[in-house]
Amino acid sequence: MSREKYDNVFGLLEKHHKWFSESIPLIASENIPSPAVREAFVSDFGNRYAEGWPGERVYAGCTYIDEVELITIELAKKLFNAEFADVRPISGVCANLSVYSAFTNPNDKMIALPIPSGGHISHGKSDFSGTAGLVHGLRIDYFAFDREEMNIDVDKSKQRITKMIEEENDKPNMAMFGGSLFLFPHPMKELKDFLLDHDIFICYDSAHVSGLIAGKQFQDPLREGAQTMTLSTHKTLPGPQGGMILSWNKYADDIKKSVFPGNTSNHHLHSVAAKAIAFAEMLEFGKDYAVQTVKNAKALAESLNEKGLVVLGEKNGFTESHQVAVDTSKYGDGGYFEKELEKANLIVNRQLLPGDKKAGRDYVHPGGIRLGSSEITRLGMKESEMIEIANFISRIIIDKENIDTIKTDVIEFRKQFTKVHYAFETLTDAYKYIKIR
Ligand SMILES: *Cc1c(COP(=O)(O)O)cnc(C)c1O
Repeated sequence: MSREKYDNVFGLLEKHHKWFSESIPLIASENIPSPAVREAFVSDFGNRYAEGWPGERVYAGCTYIDEVELITIELAKKLFNAEFADVRPISGVCANLSVYSAFTNPNDKMIALPIPSGGHISHGKSDFSGTAGLVHGLRIDYFAFDREEMNIDVDKSKQRITKMIEEENDKPNMAMFGGSLFLFPHPMKELKDFLLDHDIFICYDSAHVSGLIAGKQFQDPLREGAQTMTLSTHKTLPGPQGGMILSWNKYADDIKKSVFPGNTSNHHLHSVAAKAIAFAEMLEFGKDYAVQTVKNAKALAESLNEKGLVVLGEKNGFTESHQVAVDTSKYGDGGYFEKELEKANLIVNRQLLPGDKKAGRDYVHPGGIRLGSSEITRLGMKESEMIEIANFISRIIIDKENIDTIKTDVIEFRKQFTKVHYAFETLTDAYKYIKIR
């Protein structure tokens, strides 16, 4: 019985690898790491304890672990031009939570974006079980958002915050930029002086766009006013699942204490090693990768628009990031199309769009889908492939063509793209299941 389950799990893992090798992966928060990142990730580091900072560990046996972590820190600082890097947070949410604990107190107020306008659940209210509210007791209020611009409205946000301070005697303590539906750089430069004048701490959550920032193709948060920057290391940044905090030396002690012992005991040492490999590859290939990722997102958006689909952000050229947001509501809700596309091996996710809540839509049946170009870029796809992908998508959404026919075409199309690009080693197939038993 247990032997059967054991074999079954490995069988399912192999099936997953095969399925992804025959699919078009378009989830904006995902990526494919290089084989070298995977190798570091399966090392014995994954089973060890360290706790604390290199050289000040709680456990013995950290000789090589410490050396690796110091390399990871050095590469992180170089990649993002940061004075200080804490590479220990085990996820983006944990990085955010560490920043909340370091720089705010429960019951303080934080300004962020609501989810339909791109905010993340880790910036959310307690009522919605958002991390900031539920775990750290922050009260959340919102930036003003301009749907046409698909961005934070600077003047209206200033008015709102001024009203909070002057009329409600309720000054926010932190402003959180960044988000999960993130098409255009946020106007942090434009709000920085206003926020700092009111003693509002600025954090920039680059979970989605950290790979584009590392490749110098998006805004540069630390130069534009961010006092801290949090991120995930597995979205556009093609590393292992993990998080990170970047900041200035003057905030280092507060961040370090908040990460350990505040928000973790042990961190994930195999992930730290894999982060170093990913950062080294980004220093070498990151610019080319980020340039092509943004080009591909724009090409995909334009092709979908030409097919007649409603693509958000049209006024500003659809996107400046790796993301494309499509309003499918004319044809059906995003939840329905997520499933239809999946049947044809097009892996996307449904997306709440600005205005969905007012239109009575919810997370299960939102107004559209979100597409990301980072993983397909790493598989070697360029602008001409974006036209083909837009064609597959519109055959499903607009033409309602037979799904099996499209699936066969998708599998055929994928055969040209088997390796991971923008990496030191490109010998192994991207989704090959590597047996080490
Ligand atoms: C994905 C995401 C996170 C959370 O990252 P995890 O690494 O999954 O914990 C945080 N903030 C934003 C804006 C995100 O999109």
